[in-house]
Amino acid sequence: MSRRGELDVIVVGAGVVGAAAALAMVQEGFDVALIEARPPPEWNAQEEVDARVVALAPDAKALFDNLGVWSEISASRVSGFRRMRVWDALAPGELAFDAADRGEATLGWIVENRLLQHVLWKALSESSHRSGTVRLLCPAEVSSIENEPESVTVALADGTRLRSPLLVAADGASSAIRMQLGIGTHDRDYGQRAIVAHVGTEKSHESTAWQRFQPGGPLALLPLQDGRCSIVWSVQADEAARLLALDDTHFQAELGCAFDFRLGTITSTTRRLAFPLKMRLAERYVDGRTLLIGDAAHAVHPLAGQGLNLGLRDVCSLRDQLLRSKSPEADPGAAHVLRRYERERRSENVVAANSFSVIERVFNSDSTAVAGLRGIALGLAGRLPALKRVLGDAAAGRL
Ligand SMILES: Cc1cc2nc3c(=O)[nH]c(=O)nc-3n(C[C@H](O)[C@H](O)[C@H](O)COP(=O)(O)OP(=O)(O)OC[C@H]3O[C@@H](n4cnc5c(N)ncnc54)[C@H](O)[C@@H]3O)c2cc1C
Repeated sequence: MSRRGELDVIVVGAGVVGAAAALAMVQEGFDVALIEARPPPEWNAQEEVDARVVALAPDAKALFDNLGVWSEISASRVSGFRRMRVWDALAPGELAFDAADRGEATLGWIVENRLLQHVLWKALSESSHRSGTVRLLCPAEVSSIENEPESVTVALADGTRLRSPLLVAADGASSAIRMQLGIGTHDRDYGQRAIVAHVGTEKSHESTAWQRFQPGGPLALLPLQDGRCSIVWSVQADEAARLLALDDTHFQAELGCAFDFRLGTITSTTRRLAFPLKMRLAERYVDGRTLLIGDAAHAVHPLAGQGLNLGLRDVCSLRDQLLRSKSPEADPGAAHVLRRYERERRSENVVAANSFSVIERVFNSDSTAVAGLRGIALGLAGRLPALKRVLGDAAAGRL
């Protein structure tokens, strides 16, 4: 629906957030250029489950439904979970959330990042029935940006130049676009690594997402469709190095112990990977005709499994703001459109990121006094239905 026979939007970064944003805009009739540095890894259902999985909240699933891709995702390899159990290594009490208590069948879904990206790219390539167009440039990298009053011009490393009224930066936590624009960040290095792997357990995972808080960091076991669990084990960097160096037998023994043998012994493990954990919040989301979404705007601690969910909410907000001002002559990069998006998303993302940081600090402490308070808080939350409902909403990404 380009107003001038040119592009309406340029999106840089075609990870899950950038690809979902591009698809949402193409489906609304915008002509989009999507620039990605690296081709995504191949998806093959016969291969081992990808090491990177995410827990999707109901509103993220609703977005994928709306984009017409959820049926393919759910037909591939998805594990819905019905319950969540959260407890503390040093304090009594446990929080339990059940989908049935909310009159629902599922609290969330565990999905491979690679599958999400694959399905979104496929939908983008099948654009014949859409009213907008997409031009996918990959591998391609941005070498410079010129933010002008009426448009943004992006120069690629191969000399290609693209011009549009709006540039969306979805190029991840180390966003080069954010840095080129001089947008600062508030950073917090947790000094932790998240170890991820898929493990077999002696007992069934009961379609439950489990999380144990312990000094050093939280340990989550997320249920996979094949009966194994995906672990996200956050530990201090030196401890991560030690755990990564263990052979499988010793790693399994330590993991079982760290998890309180809640699912019995750990019977197998895949190769372990580790990710450094940092909070990084952009000071602003808008610069001229450019805006930030996803991890480019906010990278958060994975303890609540919300990083991607927040990024997908950015996508919904951006789509809504663009539609609010849509008319044949509307300017998608108009300052009031971008400011409305920034107002709506920045406050929620900052509150979420700081809440995760507070939870991380409180649960990371091995002080007896703090552990006592945690026990009281968990006990109270379990006994007060209203408080439990609020926490359940937060866990399911509904706040
Ligand atoms: C251990 C761990 C567990 C997690 N668990 C969960 C969870 O359960 N639930 C949840 O919601 N979130 C979770 N997250 C967070 C989630 O993975 C991220 O928030 C999400 O992947 C960010 O997506 P994105 O598309 O914004 O960025 P990215 O996935 O980083 O994608 C950015 C894309 O931009 C491309 N790119 C980068 N630079 C350029 C450039 N200069 N030019 C062109 N392209 C470029 C990259 O190649 C990439 O494809 C977890 C994170 C970690 C580390």
